[in-house]
Amino acid sequence: MPDYQAILDAIREEVRPLLGQGHVADYIPRLAEVPREKFGMAVATLDGRVYRTGDAGEVFSAQSISKVYTLTLALRAVGDRLWQRVGREPSGNAFNSLVQLELENGLPRNPFINAGALVVADVVLEAYADPRATLLAEVRRRADNPGLGDDAAVAASERQNGFRNAALANFIRSFGNLRRPVDEVLDFYFFQCSLAMSCVDLARGFLFLAHGGACPWDGERVLEADQAKRINALMLTCGTYDAAGDFAYHVGMPAKSGVGGGIVGVIPNQLAVAVWSPALNAKGNSLAGSAALELFTAKTGLSIF
Ligand code: GLU
Repeated sequence: MPDYQAILDAIREEVRPLLGQGHVADYIPRLAEVPREKFGMAVATLDGRVYRTGDAGEVFSAQSISKVYTLTLALRAVGDRLWQRVGREPSGNAFNSLVQLELENGLPRNPFINAGALVVADVVLEAYADPRATLLAEVRRRADNPGLGDDAAVAASERQNGFRNAALANFIRSFGNLRRPVDEVLDFYFFQCSLAMSCVDLARGFLFLAHGGACPWDGERVLEADQAKRINALMLTCGTYDAAGDFAYHVGMPAKSGVGGGIVGVIPNQLAVAVWSPALNAKGNSLAGSAALELFTAKTGLSIF
């Protein structure tokens, strides 16, 4: 087994010159306040070990990483019927683009672009009596952290400035692909994006996707094995914005990123790895985080390929 602790510590040293390069997501003003030199990384293995380095225990805004959890809830509730309302192809466009939606009649390309996540949020709102509590309970169980919560200030900051998401939601509604009121969908979407999680939470919280859809420590079935396989496939093809091809080439694992600077990846049957560094590259993925994950697969020899 690779010496994960030594590898994480070495990666932290190697990415140090990159910290602070890139830009933070200042279209959500609250996120622009986070110090850009932060760096944390954690690995959770299926045998129950957790390795960490740097700011791995510090919480940050999960943002789009939450889309994996709402997709999980939606698939559990409606199964393959979800795919009548959202596609499974990479978009080849920015995550918050409106252009494609017009051409494709309000059917978002995939659940990880904002348009797709808004439809998934709508499905979750329809399927569960208390969607916020359900999502929070789900994420807490997955991360094995009952103290995990949301950050109302981040959600409010995004609500005040979320003109593009409001445009997307209204646009989708005009095609009949949202059923709940637009404001309700947006509120839930901003809530999910505001989940405050650490690298340790995220590494633990994605282990079920490395374990055929079952929780590794108590065997709880989170999703069917084939559903977990498909979420991993979607993360590989669509999980890292319009850079998923390049990310697969450089890193070689399914992963989901967020504009808070977090990225979580999965090596099936082995581990989940999470990294956080707030400054983003031009495609919206954490700049130092992407480099760190490339170093991780290079140094460990682990990859899905
Ligand atoms: N809340 C962010 C937005 O909707 C999430 C984007 C992301 O992390 O990709 O713009």
